[in-house]
Amino acid sequence: MKCPRCETENDRRTICKKCGMFLSDGRTRNRVVLTPEELRKEDLKKLRRILFGILKVVWMAVVFLIISILVVAIVMTFSAE
Ligand SMILES: [Zn+2]
Repeated sequence: MKCPRCETENDRRTICKKCGMFLSDGRTRNRVVLTPEELRKEDLKKLRRILFGILKVVWMAVVFLIISILVVAIVMTFSAE
């Protein structure tokens, strides 16, 4: 993309490398231009967030299960007498 102010050729940039002019025209499609590497990093970040979410749910389920088993074991111990 060519800078409208200084005519410098900027590829895959939202800000001109020479004069700092914003090259984005404000449309959603052009708002953020990421390199493939940055896109991959963003994907990894998203994936990690999802995995941590799942892990949290699984961990909570395991803790709940252990507590339930303990409660049942205690109740059975007392009712056996
Ligand atoms: Zn420029």
